Amino acid sequence: MNLGQLIERTARLFPERPALSLGKNVFATYRELAASVNALSYHFRTIRKIAPGSRIGIVMTNTPEFWEILFGAWHAGLIAVPINPKLHSREIEFILAHSGACLCFVSPDLAPAISPLTEALISLHDVISSDHLKYLHMRNASVTTVEAADVLPADTAWIFYTSGTTGRPKGAMLSHRSLLMMILSHCADLDQPGPEDCVVHAAPQSHGSGMCGLVHFARGANNIVPESHGFDAEEMADLLNHYKGLSLFAAPTMINKLVASSAFVSADLSHLRTIIYGGAPMYQADIRRALDVLGPCLGQIYGQGESPMTITSLSKAAHCDVDHPRYFERLASVGVARTGVEVKVVDPKGGDLAAGEIGEVIVRGDILMTRYWYDDQATEAALSGGWLRTGDIGSFDQDGFLTLLDRSKDMVISGGMNIYPREIEELLLVHPSVREAAVVGRPHPEWGEEVVAFVVSHTQDGVSDQDLDRLCLDNIARFKRPKAYIFLESLPKNSTGKVLKNELRTLAKTAPSELPTPKV
Ligand code: AMP
Repeated sequence: MNLGQLIERTARLFPERPALSLGKNVFATYRELAASVNALSYHFRTIRKIAPGSRIGIVMTNTPEFWEILFGAWHAGLIAVPINPKLHSREIEFILAHSGACLCFVSPDLAPAISPLTEALISLHDVISSDHLKYLHMRNASVTTVEAADVLPADTAWIFYTSGTTGRPKGAMLSHRSLLMMILSHCADLDQPGPEDCVVHAAPQSHGSGMCGLVHFARGANNIVPESHGFDAEEMADLLNHYKGLSLFAAPTMINKLVASSAFVSADLSHLRTIIYGGAPMYQADIRRALDVLGPCLGQIYGQGESPMTITSLSKAAHCDVDHPRYFERLASVGVARTGVEVKVVDPKGGDLAAGEIGEVIVRGDILMTRYWYDDQATEAALSGGWLRTGDIGSFDQDGFLTLLDRSKDMVISGGMNIYPREIEELLLVHPSVREAAVVGRPHPEWGEEVVAFVVSHTQDGVSDQDLDRLCLDNIARFKRPKAYIFLESLPKNSTGKVLKNELRTLAKTAPSELPTPKV
């Protein structure tokens, strides 16, 4: 089973349907994409004689060529290493060196930064820009049809370097079988797009949008890369007016921007099929606003690089099941275990916990990474007895809906009490003037840690720390209330939209001390 064959199969079914578009223009039909994949596969194997299992780096802002290279590499039995182009050049260098990539494909904007790395890295023989004649020749060459390389289901297809909010990236080795599981379980649990539908790649293709694209290629849909090569709410509005059956993968912050965009909300929303969101918490208040404005198009996924896009999901139907007695609890959850995926919540010794009890989320199934690339220590810490330790803290309800509280390392322990920042963040976001909120702990001589809240407000003078303190006192236990509020213009986030809590923890240490304790 070789994922490179997906395109051959779809091309036989829908040869003249658009496979790839750039903005509103067709870039390649499925027949043309299959020809490019074949030509690249031939080039890798016959001209360059690259051995099966060799690594190919792909550092590209979103471009149609990304897909030709990805499927071409798989077809040739090679391992793709897509790298988030927004990473720092030192991080990109680390990933290329660590994976031992022999070739690296780049989008033209990144060529000046990446090309010199051939001097620095022994394993890296060539950096090829997708606008270079060298690439156009290898992609457009008219060559004989070659069979896809014979790979086993457990062979690695994609090394996914975790975006991480701390430390060095780790390379989760994702097999052909794991990615196929991801595709099938998307169709089982979330959506079954067809050849009349499309997906817009506005989030990084090296991450969630790339994974989401695989589903759409398997189903013969049109994969659209915006002309801006990224996310722009006005451009999204324009594409939505043009294309029917439109889906996208979006980080929660992107959905909030779409909802706030007058161009997007006044576009033809009947064309909107599905917005899959995940990767970071989306707060209930934001989900409800998005449902009100955009309609019943939201589906949530909870996953990790190590279990790509697939641990649990909250279906589109669950988002709209307003009459269910536990509707709001469900909306605050990440949904139920995915098809073919086992999910448990366990105590620190690995013992099973019952519904309602809080512990670490662990996962088992064919979806999981096989291990981390050349990192025994991290592999041992993450995988044990076939289970993946996610590092996320959560609890199941009676119906099997999982609610995440936090990453275990983000939990605050104050006076021996566990405090889950997400609960406080959800509450602060209820205040109409609060646009974003993030809660962290900082050292406290008496309590061990105390809670500090960072707030981004809609208006300059919209809200005071006293207002927010009152909100907390009215709704949550006193020991959980933030002892200081820090107002920011925006929260620091990494390139996939995750809040950088480490930076906030550093900032929190310099914030002024406690709020006066109000009388109750
Ligand atoms: P990454 O491997 O970089 O994609 O990060 C995975 C982590 O993002 C997970 O372990 C969770 O902590 C977080 N995450 C992913 N999806 C969700 C979600 N739907 N809700 C809350 N957190 C999420």
